[in-house]
Amino acid sequence: MLAMSELKEILPHAKARFVEKMSSHNDVSALLDSTPLTICNRSNAKAKHDSALVRCHAYDSGFSLQTWGEVIHGTAGSEVLLYQFRFSQPTELERTVWHEWGHLLSNKYIEAINDERLEYFKRREASNDRLYHENLPDDEREYQERLAFGTQLWCEFIADTICNIVADDEPHIIAWDIQEQMKQILLAAVSNTPIHIALLGHYCSMVLTNPTVVAHSEVDERFSIGLEFLPEETAKLVDKLLCLLADQLNEDQICKISKDRILDIGAVVNQIWDAIAESKYW
Ligand SMILES: [Zn+2]
Repeated sequence: MLAMSELKEILPHAKARFVEKMSSHNDVSALLDSTPLTICNRSNAKAKHDSALVRCHAYDSGFSLQTWGEVIHGTAGSEVLLYQFRFSQPTELERTVWHEWGHLLSNKYIEAINDERLEYFKRREASNDRLYHENLPDDEREYQERLAFGTQLWCEFIADTICNIVADDEPHIIAWDIQEQMKQILLAAVSNTPIHIALLGHYCSMVLTNPTVVAHSEVDERFSIGLEFLPEETAKLVDKLLCLLADQLNEDQICKISKDRILDIGAVVNQIWDAIAESKYW
């Protein structure tokens, strides 16, 4: 486990590198400076998590001792939490904090969508109806699901992608270990319902932005990203999702995603969900 003093030594370098690599975005440095970052240890983690929720007026996403880091985001602001007891290597800390700052940075581009999501949570809470979501009219419910799933997948995807850009690693010559990782993540994400949307976002980012995967895919089109381990229908849909995200990465400003594209991503997530649910009946 890294000591608190080691974390405090690594963080300024990690921050300088993030600011340098992301300098094409406005005010990255000001954004990081103005967002509180709290390092939690095992004994105070829950208390620090809870007080950040209160300060940010955020909805509880659930506290877990398995979390490495998170961004608490609410109507009163955002804060970054890092869980010191999870880190044993400096690179783990760097990659975690770059991922969390990736959330902060990319959230700036979808503020209207995040506000809409928070409004929805407020209405749901105020309704005192445990089945609020289930009782919505069909088209409204489908819209909220597409928005929720699309946003969740996009946020994890772009945070990992920003982390890969900042890390700027050289591709590895040998790729079988990362292929195995991709396969495991993909299977864990879409083998069963509920779909693990965050994992699916990590998987997509590995396929499209991990330098080793990108380099190997470019030289050999038979390079496996794991789709052959899925039922055909699910594989087609995951491929469709990768195409949507690849289109977004071709934009001049990759973080600037339209609401329509987020809804398109959410629609594919819904279709994957349905395909898995249906295959259970066979
Ligand atoms: Zn994340």
